[in-house]
Amino acid sequence: MECREYHKYFNSFINNELDYKETKTLLSHVSQCKDCDADLHSQYIMISGLRKIDLKEGDPPIPEYEELIKQETKRCRREGIIRRAFVELSILALIISVIFILKGILWIN
Ligand SMILES: [Zn+2]
Repeated sequence: MECREYHKYFNSFINNELDYKETKTLLSHVSQCKDCDADLHSQYIMISGLRKIDLKEGDPPIPEYEELIKQETKRCRREGIIRRAFVELSILALIISVIFILKGILWIN
């Protein structure tokens, strides 16, 4: 993907509207591309600056850019672990089911 294609995701990323895969793809790119990181940072400062004006008492604080990237990277890593564990458990469950089915067939015969 070219840099300008990642820019389409900036707004959604800032609004927390991207799914796991899109977030992971974008974070992986901005961690390696200084230009896109700088552009995302600028856009974030603009949007979060406007939000800070409207911030009411009791609203959750708006994180700094570096903090947001750190949080999202952590969240992606956690979700990645859960997704892998789910796949591994599904495979394990499938293997166990096959063993029981085969045992059942052997018992019948
Ligand atoms: Zn880029």
